[in-house]
Amino acid sequence: MMNPNWDKLYASAFERVRANLGNAGSVLLAYNTNVDVLRYLRRDDLEERIERAGRDEVLGYSSELPEMIKSVPQLLGSILWSVRQGKAAELFVGSCRVRFYMKRWGWDEVRMGGQVGIMANLLGGVYGVPVVAHVPQLSRLQTGLFREGPIYVPKFENGELKLVHPKKFSGHGGWEEDSPIHYIYEFPRGFRVLGFEAPRENRFIASADDYNTALVIRDEFREGFDEIAAGVGLAIISGFQALTEDTYREPFGVVKEHLRVLSEREVPAHLELAFTPDETVRREILRLLPMFWSVGLNEVELASVMEVMNERDLAEKLLSSDPADADAVIEAMLKLAALGVRRIHFHTYGYYLALTAYRGEFVRDALLFAALTAATKARLGDVPSMEEVAKSLKVPVGGMAGPVEEALTKEYGMKDGIAEINGYQLAFVPTKIVERPKSTVGIGDTISSSAFVGEFALRRGTQMKRL
Ligand code: ADP
Repeated sequence: MMNPNWDKLYASAFERVRANLGNAGSVLLAYNTNVDVLRYLRRDDLEERIERAGRDEVLGYSSELPEMIKSVPQLLGSILWSVRQGKAAELFVGSCRVRFYMKRWGWDEVRMGGQVGIMANLLGGVYGVPVVAHVPQLSRLQTGLFREGPIYVPKFENGELKLVHPKKFSGHGGWEEDSPIHYIYEFPRGFRVLGFEAPRENRFIASADDYNTALVIRDEFREGFDEIAAGVGLAIISGFQALTEDTYREPFGVVKEHLRVLSEREVPAHLELAFTPDETVRREILRLLPMFWSVGLNEVELASVMEVMNERDLAEKLLSSDPADADAVIEAMLKLAALGVRRIHFHTYGYYLALTAYRGEFVRDALLFAALTAATKARLGDVPSMEEVAKSLKVPVGGMAGPVEEALTKEYGMKDGIAEINGYQLAFVPTKIVERPKSTVGIGDTISSSAFVGEFALRRGTQMKRL
């Protein structure tokens, strides 16, 4: 039986977070911002392209993904792979010719992309929380995607560091370089092509991006970081996912230095993980983890981190049921907490958990606020305003979290979503679930940034109780 209090808890959490967002302080967001373009696949168009590129060669690439895309048949074959499996995949496009081909193929929508870009528009553009964002390439196409509001990028003017809205940056002096573009090819469940049928809706992403993939860090952030850090009260870090064994060393040197400055200035930093295929990079991220106050992840990311901690059985267990088995999730979260991270925020379809080295209802309330924002994004494909977030109070809580809540209540004596485990506080919330979501791209970033910033907004309005 689901606790009947959730509706009330949701309503009061929303009011309190909304009233306190002004206490959060400025948030530094680094490092990945790009342009997402969406193309909704059409059967006749795709089949014609496959015929023209050479059907047999394309089909050859549709059963196994290449490491990167270097030819048009590889591009079309990889899209076909996604359709056949109903799975998402993302590959780097290394050829100018293929990039040009995708540009001419065109798109249906242009959107802000990258975790930093998405979070900047949400925190600055909707919550009114000032953000300083790292935008590797400030092209007109890119800067035009920023919302109005307290969103800033640092800019050198006569040797001095100034903060300006990205639209006012105009630092390219007439020379318009290529924007980092992620081409997202979406298809619905049941999409048919060449006799294949997609078992579920999903997307294939071809990234024509030389900036975020290599974690290019701008000069303003290399030379002026101390000054940038002095002006913020929180930091959210993301964008390591496309690095490889060959490319991570140089940028990680800079990242470490940035984390050192942030911790010296006592700016709590949150690491927003994304699935990182390279195991060496994943191991290095794990090494950085103790420098973070907080980390946010989903079940796939948690399992992938357990793998490099040599917890393969646990990793497997995390992925073997839907929703993820809470006991396995908590076991894995405790292992991360033991590394010294003070806050671990896990999200999955149906519920969120936060394991913290401190106590307080504000942790749970921030999760509830995040779930409202997530439901808004699922409903509308975007979070346009606080009024729309408020409307998500009407979305019902999903039933799949019921058994999880029951088990946590029995095992740990959880009450209203709060329990104590091994000296940590565990906060649990069942999430609102939108039956027919408009889009689910980037919901993870929305959840994590809302919960982290929401928590500090509440915390800075009240007194923090340490365990
Ligand atoms: P992404 O990488 O696209 O951000 P994640 O897996 O990190 O994806 O986050 C997706 C999260 O979105 C899920 O964990 C779930 O909590 C939430 N979510 C997905 N679909 C819905 C839905 N229909 N209604 C509410 N929340 C959803």
